Amino acid sequence: MNIVLMGPPGAGKGTQADFMKAEFSLPHISTGDIFREAVSQGTELGKKAQEYMNAGKLVPDELTIAIVEERLARKDCLQGFLLDGFPRTTVQAEALKRVLQKTGRKVEAAINISVPQDILIARLSGRISCKECKTVYNTSYSPPTRPGICDKCGGELIQRSDDRGETVKNRLLVYQEQTSPLLDYYDKHKVLYNIDGNRDSREVFYEIKEILQGL
Ligand code: AMP
Repeated sequence: MNIVLMGPPGAGKGTQADFMKAEFSLPHISTGDIFREAVSQGTELGKKAQEYMNAGKLVPDELTIAIVEERLARKDCLQGFLLDGFPRTTVQAEALKRVLQKTGRKVEAAINISVPQDILIARLSGRISCKECKTVYNTSYSPPTRPGICDKCGGELIQRSDDRGETVKNRLLVYQEQTSPLLDYYDKHKVLYNIDGNRDSREVFYEIKEILQGL
């Protein structure tokens, strides 16, 4: 199963990716997670990516594509993968197509989770996650039992630096301008599935599961 998970920031891609990983044992490739890890480790990649991320902009295509190409070439991806947050531009989508074609593969489903803009802003500005186990909470919708402390592992809960004020607005704008045209792209390739993400995350997953089981 070669799956692309799409949707604006705050649509719930990470939550659904966790469900999908558990159900279908797919390797989960999140470009956002890869960049955040590189930033926290202070690598060359992290230094390059940080300024774009802090501004709510996309990291340049060349850099992003190289990382994904290397990751998709690894053995664990040959039987399937779940790409989360990639592609985000038409150039990335075309590059992905070329990379997969080299090994006779293609994207089989582009799952697009949509959520109204005002809900996205509320979700993003209230989003906090555990520094240790990465479990995500929301201060309004799904708060932890003890403020600032992870229910699962007791780790510290922090807000992503790009979930604040202006950066959130920029990320949503960048999504509209650069990523939303990909919906047409995957529709033309007859692999687009639109999902209403403004529901309980389990309900959203139930629908995604049915789509994947039907592939
Ligand atoms: P995410 O966790 O997917 O919301 O990604 C966080 C940030 O990482 C984005 O706002 C971008 O700055 C960067 N990023 C993640 N994926 C990509 C991508 N496919 N292309 C360019 N930049 C990306």
